[in-house]
Amino acid sequence: MSIFSHPDFDGHEAVHVFCDAASGLRAIIAVHNTNRGPASGGTRFWHYASDADALADVLRLSRAMSYKNAMARLDLGGGKAVILKPDEPFDRDALFAAYGRAVDTISGTYITAEDVGVSPRDMTTIKTQTDHVAGLPEGKNASGDPSPVTAEGVFRGVRVAAERRFGTRDLSGMTVAVQGLGSVGYALAGHLANAGATLNVADINPDILRKAEAELGATVVPVEAVHSVDADIFAPCALGGAINDRTLPELKAKVVAGAANNQLASEDMDNALKARGILYAPDYVINAGGIINVAAEVAGDYDPSWVNAKLDQLEETLGEVFDRAVAEDRTTAEVADEMARDRMAVTRDWR
Ligand code: NAD
Repeated sequence: MSIFSHPDFDGHEAVHVFCDAASGLRAIIAVHNTNRGPASGGTRFWHYASDADALADVLRLSRAMSYKNAMARLDLGGGKAVILKPDEPFDRDALFAAYGRAVDTISGTYITAEDVGVSPRDMTTIKTQTDHVAGLPEGKNASGDPSPVTAEGVFRGVRVAAERRFGTRDLSGMTVAVQGLGSVGYALAGHLANAGATLNVADINPDILRKAEAELGATVVPVEAVHSVDADIFAPCALGGAINDRTLPELKAKVVAGAANNQLASEDMDNALKARGILYAPDYVINAGGIINVAAEVAGDYDPSWVNAKLDQLEETLGEVFDRAVAEDRTTAEVADEMARDRMAVTRDWR
């Protein structure tokens, strides 16, 4: 398996591979860029079909964290980790303790947090072995679940997008289609309902749909049609790849702004959205609320007013992306990538 010539390598500073036979731990920690500060990004616990899939996933996710953290002007670099879920039965606490020891060996060049498949309890187990961990459920400075802050950031970003595309931040009377009502999507839907938006929602979980109907007055639409309903704004909040060759021609919304990572299935999707006059809020810009919340914990003194100021900055940055894209006749994704690379080039003496 190639590393340096891997299509997703993109100049990673370090890729660490860990194996602990006793617990069954097999993990990869990828450190993409530490110019701005210690690499920070969550740990994913997932069953990968192959080692190659795990490597590709961690490299892509780690690179994206560099862009996200730089764009949010956090004193953090980009990194990510994956633990390959064992096929055999395993002791979860032993495995996550071994992972904590692995994180500790790289001396704070990587600070871990939660991602898909990792629970608050697992984070607490990791913490028994290393201090290089954030996003803890409780304890001094613990920032807790990042999802509500992510949802608030996305909500604010939706309003900025509405202003640029429809001339108003007032969402009352607008229709928003929300794909995925998980931790972030449901909280976002709550903000949108409070703001007077009409909601069309889809999820694969019928219980959450019933709740959204009852609590938020939302209209449930089929999972396979949520992107194509007659809405002003489409908010992907489930998995990646919501905008793809199949869904793009069917989009009726004029704004795509949601929480999901990797919303564009391929690089050319941003041009296709622009050609159709659809304003796309780059995912890693609009969904940075969660890592902002984690950064408040890393700073050592969780301060809600600092988090709020950072969300104000998120709005400003997103507005700048939209305005530059218009002025330079480029896609919002291209502009965001360029701005992120500029912000990443600033080296801080943090060690
Ligand atoms: P979650 O697992 O809590 O929610 C995902 C929801 O999507 C679930 O309710 C699930 O049933 C639903 N879903 C799955 N497949 C679907 C489909 N085909 N159609 C419709 N719904 C479907 O995850 P989350 O924490 O809410 O995160 C949502 C997205 O936002 C993810 O892409 C995540 O990477 C991204 N994100 C989350 C955070 C955070 O703070 N949690 C931060 C940044 C980005």
